[in-house]
Amino acid sequence: MLVIGLTGGIGSGKSTVSHILARLGARMVDADIVGHQVYEPGGPAYNDIINTFGREVVGTEGKIDRKRLASIVFSKADSLEKLNDITHPRIRDAIAVILKEWKSEGTEIAVVEAAVLFEAKWTNLVDEIWATLSDESVVLDRLFKAKGMSPEQSRARLRSQIPPEEKAKRSDVVIRNNGGLEELEKQVEDLWRSVNSRLKGSGTFSPNAPS
Ligand code: ADP
Repeated sequence: MLVIGLTGGIGSGKSTVSHILARLGARMVDADIVGHQVYEPGGPAYNDIINTFGREVVGTEGKIDRKRLASIVFSKADSLEKLNDITHPRIRDAIAVILKEWKSEGTEIAVVEAAVLFEAKWTNLVDEIWATLSDESVVLDRLFKAKGMSPEQSRARLRSQIPPEEKAKRSDVVIRNNGGLEELEKQVEDLWRSVNSRLKGSGTFSPNAPS
């Protein structure tokens, strides 16, 4: 099984590429969704979060109130790091379990969508890394239209992550996404075809190869 890590800055098109890859037949795991599961009562990060940040982060039905947790985490120095130290390894383990199961089922291509693939040090979960990359002006425009985020809010989010260009530099494949959806779809379809032919051992066209 080939495992692709899909990363990139906020608003660069990761989710959009994920949907295209899922339509083409990849099995997708979204680290954000796995991330939510580790916070659930009984989940692997639940007790450690309460022990570290106090019972005031527990809201209704015993669930961790993410808004209360966020207000604590963003108001105290080192708190975000502490939270990430609790959640990132657990999310990683949960993704590893999913990938192991998919491998045993004979899955050929699995994709892990993770905005924080580099920040969380999950790169050794995957065989290769694809990054979506868009110009900042395009990202600001998209985030304003899609989420009502002001340019200041978007810039603050961008500054809190490893710069998108840096992520692209550290990736094996860069999907440049400054155009329309059709252009993006075509790029992803081409990549999908090339990854499939690579897997089947016919990566390059050779006119003399036996048919
Ligand atoms: P990310 O997951 O990286 O944050 P998304 O895939 O959610 O980014 O894209 C952010 C927004 O921009 C979404 O509303 C999405 O529909 C839109 N978008 C992404 N790529 C394109 C594109 N090539 N053309 C038009 N809209 C796009």
